[in-house]
Amino acid sequence: MKCPFCGTSQIKVVNTRSTIAGTIWRRRKCLLCHNNFSTSEMLSLTGVKVIKRSGKTERFVADKVLLGICHAGNESKRLSSDQVREAATKITDRIKSEIIRSKRKTIKTQHLGKLLLHQIKPVSLEIYYRFRAYFLSNLHYRHRKLPKTLINDLD
Ligand SMILES: [Zn+2]
Repeated sequence: MKCPFCGTSQIKVVNTRSTIAGTIWRRRKCLLCHNNFSTSEMLSLTGVKVIKRSGKTERFVADKVLLGICHAGNESKRLSSDQVREAATKITDRIKSEIIRSKRKTIKTQHLGKLLLHQIKPVSLEIYYRFRAYFLSNLHYRHRKLPKTLINDLD
């Protein structure tokens, strides 16, 4: 990504908005010449499959990710539901972009979980710790005998 005015790649995203149609609009600001411009990315997640721990595959549904994050966030009494929704939308957008950028067609649930944790952390620590607790307890439950190092790897 280069500034269309001066050509530098020192650009900051000042606003991100996604539409139901699956387009992400970003308002960007050049850190060098201070001009603003917008970009849009069409999201294509069709055909991306999630491989579950059982080995079964299912279609990747971004709304499930969104709901999962909302669920974790809504347990917090410190965040309003609007704040949770806003954070969850931001995180889901990041996840979608990440998957699209990686050009992967399959993703394991465990990897998706790690990806999520990685993306949630900079957006909301509050949601991060709640989601992490949920994710880890789920993992412990399913893989009681996993070596501890593997669990630590999820950090
Ligand atoms: Zn510029």
